[in-house]
Amino acid sequence: MEYFPIFMRLAGEPCLLVGGGEVAVRKARLLQSAGARLTVVAPQLVPELAAMAAAGEVCHIDACFQPAQVGGQRLVVAATNEREVNRLVSQTAQALGIPVNVVDDPELSSYITPAIVDRSPLVIAVSTGGGVPVLARLIRARLESLIPAGFGRLAQFAARFRDQVKARFGNVEERRAFWEAVLEGPLAEQVMNGDERAAEADLLQRLAAGDSTPSGAVYLVGAGPGNPDLLTFRALRLMQQADVVLYDNLVAPELMELVRRDAERIFVGKQRANHTMPQEEINTLLVRLAQEGKRVLRLKGGDPFTFGRGGEEIELLAEHRIPFEVVPGITSASGAAAYAGIPLTHRDHAQAVVFVTGHKKDGSIQLDWPALTRPDQTVVVYMGLAMAAEICDAFIAHGKAATTPAAVVHRATTAQQRTVVGTLASLPAKIAQSGIASPALIIVGDVVALSSRLGWFRSVEEVVETPDAQQ
Ligand code: SAH
Repeated sequence: MEYFPIFMRLAGEPCLLVGGGEVAVRKARLLQSAGARLTVVAPQLVPELAAMAAAGEVCHIDACFQPAQVGGQRLVVAATNEREVNRLVSQTAQALGIPVNVVDDPELSSYITPAIVDRSPLVIAVSTGGGVPVLARLIRARLESLIPAGFGRLAQFAARFRDQVKARFGNVEERRAFWEAVLEGPLAEQVMNGDERAAEADLLQRLAAGDSTPSGAVYLVGAGPGNPDLLTFRALRLMQQADVVLYDNLVAPELMELVRRDAERIFVGKQRANHTMPQEEINTLLVRLAQEGKRVLRLKGGDPFTFGRGGEEIELLAEHRIPFEVVPGITSASGAAAYAGIPLTHRDHAQAVVFVTGHKKDGSIQLDWPALTRPDQTVVVYMGLAMAAEICDAFIAHGKAATTPAAVVHRATTAQQRTVVGTLASLPAKIAQSGIASPALIIVGDVVALSSRLGWFRSVEEVVETPDAQQ
């Protein structure tokens, strides 16, 4: 280990920053957030630093660096772009035994600054020994995405009960089990969601009962349209802490890769004709698993509340007072629109967008056609591929021009994405020709015509045909 990591208390301590440019601003902000009493030496300040000086947040010495300014400082930072000045600062500080950092110059520095993730009081510092700061920043970005914004609040909350927990559980093992149950369960989610009162009541109750068994919960998580990059941070975090996951065909294998390795996996998928597990059974399974104390992940394609039966699945949980949370996902209509270059609304073409299902109920599609055929509107049909011909015909029969642009987007956002663009008149034949299968969305409206110009995503399989209307 070339550098020894420490965290230094700087609150109220005098620190010196030499330099008045953009780099100095960043350093000033950091030192300020640690409560340092900061003096900035520079003949010129960029406006942001000047404003900090004017507001009395830092003390400004309007001059060039003088070695005498170093005496009595706790920490010194040199951020000028003149190496000779930086060298003088460094030598002076080191002669006095004061830690000094020269920005981007490990050779002149007695300490280096890590890339940090700040969830105060939780702070994570990453260093590559000054050699590859970009790598440290990349790692930092990954950590940022994994550690929820509310984690600082959680750390503060837990610290408040530290002594009480210690008194209640004398044994280290017991104490660890207690904290694990608390910090990885619904109680922690409560704190991060801002409900500290409820969390405190739960924690005190657990403490009184000496209860360190994990408590169950259900996370109803939208996994987005298929491309793992389109997961939310929250979805990823819950995927990585679940004990058991229930998933179906719409969840891509690449996404399942991101679920905690040792989580139990239960496939509850439905095929159109072949219902592997009836909805009621899924609902009761969620309840049972949570009652066993498991953290249950119900992973859904797209968004759980958009044609995802998410509402039905959590109703029973609410009835049984099982803690649950719902994580929105990018619905496939948004994914398909973005990745096929079809803006769902557009000031010139569509003032409204409607999502409908083309799924048959009682043998026919029951949709409000007069509403769907209104002008200046985009219609996205989920689960409509099998009925594409009937749907296009119905649009025309209810007054939409046969030349209205219409598209089908298959496996949107993934490497298997395929887009076929036509008109209400030509689309059904084109679908048949292309051999496109489910999952796919039908998009109808003038905005579809923009895809030949605005489409930017090219997957291996992507074949985009221009609408006949423009040919
Ligand atoms: N909750 C999901 C929708 C579930 S209904 C969501 O918000 O997207 C299932 C239908 O969604 C499929 O029949 C298909 O129409 C659509 N769908 C889901 N993922 C898709 C994708 N990657 N590309 C195109 N359509 C998709």
